[in-house]
Amino acid sequence: MRLPEHIRRVPKADLHVHLEGTITPDLVKRIAHRNKIKLPDELLKREGQTFQWKEDPTPLGSLRGFLQAYDDATKVLRGAQDYTDLTYDYLKRSAEEENCIYAEIMVSADHGAMAKLSWPDMLAAITRGYEKAKAETGIEMRLISTCVRHYGPEGALKVGELTRAHPHPLVTGFGMAGDETAFKIADFLPAYEASGLKNRTAHAGEATGPATVREARDVLKIRRFGHMVRAIEDSALMDEQKAINAVPEVCVSSNMALKVFTDYRKHPLRKFFDAGLKVVLGSDDPTFFRTSIGREYQIAQEKFAFTEKELAKLTRNAIEEAFIDEPTRAKLLQRVDAFKAAA
Ligand SMILES: [Zn+2]
Repeated sequence: MRLPEHIRRVPKADLHVHLEGTITPDLVKRIAHRNKIKLPDELLKREGQTFQWKEDPTPLGSLRGFLQAYDDATKVLRGAQDYTDLTYDYLKRSAEEENCIYAEIMVSADHGAMAKLSWPDMLAAITRGYEKAKAETGIEMRLISTCVRHYGPEGALKVGELTRAHPHPLVTGFGMAGDETAFKIADFLPAYEASGLKNRTAHAGEATGPATVREARDVLKIRRFGHMVRAIEDSALMDEQKAINAVPEVCVSSNMALKVFTDYRKHPLRKFFDAGLKVVLGSDDPTFFRTSIGREYQIAQEKFAFTEKELAKLTRNAIEEAFIDEPTRAKLLQRVDAFKAAA
């Protein structure tokens, strides 16, 4: 799926993306072949670079189907070369085809362990893929060490401790993904503290409503939120979030695929932006949600009437809020400012 040129040329940043969620069916097939793994037939039935899953009509049906497909597809990852290829493939595509200049990717030591990789080995494998993509395209990348909420507070604490025990120049933030209904946010504060990293984000306000956003903000002291879209249900919360200059990492296609909203017209992307929240975009698990970071910018224009200048502002927001060193931030901001909108 090629982007129209007026969208392609806008410099982009992906501030909410899970590494394993970028895997394409082609790459799944290639790695499965290398690792001699048989794939479930249903997974690859859908046309193009996306995956098939069974929809079931229960409220969490889309989410469950997605998680099963995610497990099936990512089960092929069994070693360092797989993670190098995965990282390179995503970064190269995003930079070359979509003019993405910066990606901040969530990686999880738990997923590394499933692929039989220690955390340092996983990071080394990812770094190799990044360095190759960067040499070829100039794209910058940083990583967010991410604990998985439904694996529980003890597992998360271990992830935090591993993060501190193996500092890595590309690991610049700590985050939490997974089922927002599992445990309380306060249960995970020790994991955040253990990581030793000051840059923090957490998924909140996607599967659950305003209360989780407040809890994440007040307990974890964060300004960046994975999704936060359901803050729109509470106007007092919207004011509070504006007052702290909150940064919602908005992933429209993900929200639509998982039925957080049933209609683009109900999605708060435009309302967030107009309310002065510091909105950034993310592709989340792009190949599963039939999207890419470029496609998210295109949707912002086509469904939410963002001008090219406003699209560039989303990228400027992302670079300003990126978990990155100041010289790199300055360099990336120059690339955003060099962009001239056509009209
Ligand atoms: Zn996410």
